[in-house]
Amino acid sequence: MSFVPTMGGLHQGHARLIRAAVRAESSNGSVLVSTYINPLQFGVDEDFDRYPRTFEEDCALTDQAGASVLWCPDERQVYPYGSGEGWRLQAPASLTAHLCGPWRSGHFDGVVTVVMRLLGLVRPSQLWLGEKDWQQLTILRHLVNDFGLSVKVRGCPTVRESDGLAASSRNRYLSDAERTVASAFSSALSSAARDLSRGAVDEASRHAALHQQLRRAGLEVEYVETVDPVTLQPAPPGRSIRLLAAAVRCGATRLIDHVFIMTRSPIVAIDGPAGAGKSTVTRAFAERMGLLYLDTGAMYRAVTWWVQKNGADPSSAPAVEALLDGLEVDLSPLRDGVQTVRVNGRDITEAIRDPEVTGSVSLVAAHPCVRALLTQQQQRLGVRGGLVAEGRDIGTAVFPDADVKVFLTATPEERARRRAKDLEARGHAVPELSELEAQIVERDRLDSTREVAPLVQAEDATELITDGMSIEAVIDALEDLFRFRVAEEVWPTPEG
Ligand code: C5P
Repeated sequence: MSFVPTMGGLHQGHARLIRAAVRAESSNGSVLVSTYINPLQFGVDEDFDRYPRTFEEDCALTDQAGASVLWCPDERQVYPYGSGEGWRLQAPASLTAHLCGPWRSGHFDGVVTVVMRLLGLVRPSQLWLGEKDWQQLTILRHLVNDFGLSVKVRGCPTVRESDGLAASSRNRYLSDAERTVASAFSSALSSAARDLSRGAVDEASRHAALHQQLRRAGLEVEYVETVDPVTLQPAPPGRSIRLLAAAVRCGATRLIDHVFIMTRSPIVAIDGPAGAGKSTVTRAFAERMGLLYLDTGAMYRAVTWWVQKNGADPSSAPAVEALLDGLEVDLSPLRDGVQTVRVNGRDITEAIRDPEVTGSVSLVAAHPCVRALLTQQQQRLGVRGGLVAEGRDIGTAVFPDADVKVFLTATPEERARRRAKDLEARGHAVPELSELEAQIVERDRLDSTREVAPLVQAEDATELITDGMSIEAVIDALEDLFRFRVAEEVWPTPEG
């Protein structure tokens, strides 16, 4: 079941969330929308009393958008001990130290408390939230992640009015004159983001210019900040995706908005030891997210195949180097889940999976000349981003600035079992599991002890131990990590 928690005062942004949830549930699931104005997330001087209460319109909108149920709980249902009593959660200080946190003391504590309670009552499989409130969405993603809650968080891009103003229940407060003033907000943010993504201007001075521009338009600025989209801390330089967010007051109405500063499309790095199932899940993940797929192991296998075909000794650096001149390794885009591998025009997609190639690939991959050649080629393919690459050194050596880094692993026993299945499916002889395990462990040893770009977990990678996880569950986990950093707004999930 999908759950769309709201505070009522519904608008087109909510309608989009509900429609997306209905589409995702297709025919089998239901979509529950709740409207509850949570007193805990309002400060003493805030607008709890005048927050829009539009029950009739909310009913019509939820019905039209295709929701199954509109649930309007009362305070006793949500807070059985009373809203002033009972359980309280506190959002981590690091996540509330910037953006709206300092301006709305206690707000996010109220948000996490009510959402935890509502999740317990509704027990949905999917929780739908708008990307407009990015800090709220991110804090709730952390909540779900840190407490291991079994609900998938789904974000939807901000819906905007024709003049760019982000849809919000609070827009109802604006007079016509204020509404005109407010329309300067999103365009000023977008033009600042454009300048910052080109890297032509210094961040502090561009923030100052944005402040001034907003003030001149008649908006009172609370904050303008650029942060990392996941940690919500000031973004370290060199990050390819940053969040430029601001809050302003237009008359008595508080408005928030943001835009992403992107220097290229996203890159996902998936590293890990042999037989962890990287290829299978990365391929499916690439298809699900509409990313290009780069199997770097296939490139090392292709070189190994070439070395063997030429009868050279895979452990001899001079012999291997002599064969690299004019060698062309080509990976086609995925078609029906298959990436065709060619060496000098010849299709060797199947041949590189031969156990003989597998047996020597770590020797060939350890030669610095091979690594230099293939790393350069991989980096060329990734210049513009929009790809997921898997291998051993993607997050450390090939794309150290990847936006999402995952270290995918499993116990050697589990990996041996998977390898056996794979060999069987490809029609190869299947050795004893103990022998397969020994081969895998040896390949890991060679890969992780070589001089150049050894297999190690990047410091900023998330480890995913996949024993006992289905392929679907691993792909879901990758999607969660991706969506933590990459908004639907900037990289929409392809329809399908
Ligand atoms: O992932 P796969 O089993 O196809 O990789 C084959 C081999 O290629 C690895 O064992 C490793 O020696 C090498 N490789 C590498 N660096 C990468 C990807 C693969 O050294 N980025």
